[in-house]
Amino acid sequence: MLKSPLEKVERILKTRGNAGKICSSPLQTATVELMGVVDTYWPDAHFDANKMAKLSTAAYEIAGIEGLRVPFDIGIEAEAFGCEVKIGRADIPPSIMNPAFAEFEELHIPRSIQEKGRIPTLLRAIRVLKEKYGDILPIYPMIIGPISLLGFLVGIEKTLYTLSTEPDALKGALDQVTQFNIDLANTTVEEGNGFLCIADPVASGDLVAAEHFAEHILPHYQRIRQRVHGLIILHICGNTNPLLPQLPDTGFEAFSFQGPEVEVKDAKKVLGGKMALVGNLPNETLLRFRSPRAVMNGSIKALEDGVDILAPACGFHPLTPLQNMKAMVRAVEKFA
Ligand SMILES: [Zn+2]
Repeated sequence: MLKSPLEKVERILKTRGNAGKICSSPLQTATVELMGVVDTYWPDAHFDANKMAKLSTAAYEIAGIEGLRVPFDIGIEAEAFGCEVKIGRADIPPSIMNPAFAEFEELHIPRSIQEKGRIPTLLRAIRVLKEKYGDILPIYPMIIGPISLLGFLVGIEKTLYTLSTEPDALKGALDQVTQFNIDLANTTVEEGNGFLCIADPVASGDLVAAEHFAEHILPHYQRIRQRVHGLIILHICGNTNPLLPQLPDTGFEAFSFQGPEVEVKDAKKVLGGKMALVGNLPNETLLRFRSPRAVMNGSIKALEDGVDILAPACGFHPLTPLQNMKAMVRAVEKFA
């Protein structure tokens, strides 16, 4: 019997790669073209669970990408903590306007935080997706990783500067954020069907030195891995080459990385057999602006080089052409 996409992704993650190929995106999949086809648009879809679920399914139903990702933006947790979020437009995701806390010592987790802001919307959307596709497609709830969320809450520059100069000053706040991560991750995994994506853009090798990553970020990932029940894909943007050797120590099943900064061959060399590889098609220079044929060629190359789950480098740009998403799906069919 043919395996469902859910079984395929489960197998790839549990075996940490080398167990088949699939086109499935744990990163955001909504585009303006898909919004038009299902008549469900940003920003409404950020606030209404049924619309969020419907737009998320469009990537599967219309483009053929075998997975469901919610939410579409990275501001949900920060908003629940009290950050102001600008809602954006159909082609612009919401953005976080200002930190919620002036100092690390002020940071605290608001009471009943999982009932605040759009967290309940996200949890309802996951339930809607599970009801419809929970038996056949992986549902990827996304949470923001600890160092990025701390950056959103207290200021990214301040967080990075303190991390490199006076790391003890932010340790207490980072511990609290990690505990919040663990609690929210477990809630979303239980509402979903056992998968989770942790996106931690601020942990990028462009921003954090490898020795600081090892000392101050890796232990938090390990704590999350120990306490969250589910298969976890870690996504970090940008140039993560200097961090690759440490990533298997996170214990996470897979790493989602960005091309062309990180080549599949290089990731394979370091992570092969230890983590499944997710990625890494460049969002702008390939997926958004090139032809379906170029996307097909780039996809085949990524698969040949060792990617297990073919996906964009980072979330799909909202102006990515539908034909290019379909070309990724065709590439996996052709490769098989
Ligand atoms: Zn990214």
